[in-house]
Amino acid sequence: MAVQPPPADQRIVIENVAIATVDAADTEYARGHVVILGNRIESVGDGPAPNWLDNVVRRINGEGHLITPGLVNTHHHFYQWITRGLAQDNILFDWLVALYPTWARIDEKLVHAASQGSAAALLKSGCTTASDHHYVFPKDGGDVLGASIEAVQELGLRFTALRGSMDRSKKDGGLPPDHAVEELDDILAASEAAVDHYHDSSFGSMLHVAIAPCSPFSVSTDLLRQSAELARRKGVRLHTHGSETAEEEQFCKELFGMGPTDYFESVDWLGEDVWMAHCVHMNDSDIAKFAETGTGVAHCPSSNARLAAGIARVPDMLEAGVPVGLGVDGTASNESGELGTELRNALLINRLHGYPTALTGRQALRLGTMGGARVLGRQNEIGSIEAGKLADLALWKIDGVMHSSIADPVAALTFGALPPLAVLFVNGNAVVEKGELTTVNEDRIARACARAAKELASRPV
Ligand SMILES: [Zn+2]
Repeated sequence: MAVQPPPADQRIVIENVAIATVDAADTEYARGHVVILGNRIESVGDGPAPNWLDNVVRRINGEGHLITPGLVNTHHHFYQWITRGLAQDNILFDWLVALYPTWARIDEKLVHAASQGSAAALLKSGCTTASDHHYVFPKDGGDVLGASIEAVQELGLRFTALRGSMDRSKKDGGLPPDHAVEELDDILAASEAAVDHYHDSSFGSMLHVAIAPCSPFSVSTDLLRQSAELARRKGVRLHTHGSETAEEEQFCKELFGMGPTDYFESVDWLGEDVWMAHCVHMNDSDIAKFAETGTGVAHCPSSNARLAAGIARVPDMLEAGVPVGLGVDGTASNESGELGTELRNALLINRLHGYPTALTGRQALRLGTMGGARVLGRQNEIGSIEAGKLADLALWKIDGVMHSSIADPVAALTFGALPPLAVLFVNGNAVVEKGELTTVNEDRIARACARAAKELASRPV
């Protein structure tokens, strides 16, 4: 059952806490307060909360803690939770070819288990809003999209379900096996039905849907064009993988006579309503086009490192004004599944561009919060701690042995080990307490995921 919002008149007060608001001015308080009213932030500021507040059901002493906006995950494939630790030493194309046959055997039951594993890892690492790019729809797999949505709603994570797709298989020069793809007309009909059935565009929505063909090397040009038309007709966002590897660039040049960004431009896939995962192999002109059009980027540093894809030019993108958020990516290429640790990984990997200011700790936190909110088109609702926004908040314990000697609370989070999560609020509900889920028994999820992984591995190809 979906987690319900708290009563609208109930207050939770957090005091004596270090606060990184990630608002436009990067306001921070060394010792401040945050008041939650119902599912929204009522106030944030320096010192103690006002003493006239009524209906306070919980008062948290935040001494020794840092509160930040909940983290926002802009790219993931939840189903991959049950195919982790495979193809450990491959580049993207070989890794995909190795895994497609296994993925093509998933069904709604396995996807439910895998989605709870993925969502649990996200919540337990401070993520309050996530998107899940699901593009594998086996003919006899049942309602896999519905299964992922139901799984996430039980855990209380704010969600964007991305109805993905593949229609360019080996016989058309693509990478997936022929039996793993769908027909174009079926994809468009199912995508429209998913939007009609699930997408809730209201303020504070717990569920968005976006249209998300998989990648240039697994979908047809017609599917890209018609998906863009469909998304704009329905008023939802568009997502895909782009410029991930040198091999993808080569593929696009050979097949379409141009690089990935020019190809996306040619099919009307640049715009404020579009975001793309990775964007590692971008030249100056590509970055300028993303900046001019407001096209967003999901930066996935761990996955890019795991698959030896390269280092995205995030500092140049930020300087140009490109919206950039963070992504875990699927856990077959980032087995940790944690979003919190991506703050540190983004920080360190971007400094390998060769200069220490390539990404600061505060910029890394901004990527993981407001940056992601903007990429998902939800910057007015989430991503910063400001009065009126939704109560999606992460309370990190930074007075333990791992962090108590770090001079700066934000550095404790972004340079240090990922701190223990004292409480995670999503929509005003405490869905994690002392690092543990409050909604679903974690051992039950662990057992279901182990069973699902085993079952998938044993299914005949
Ligand atoms: Zn991906």
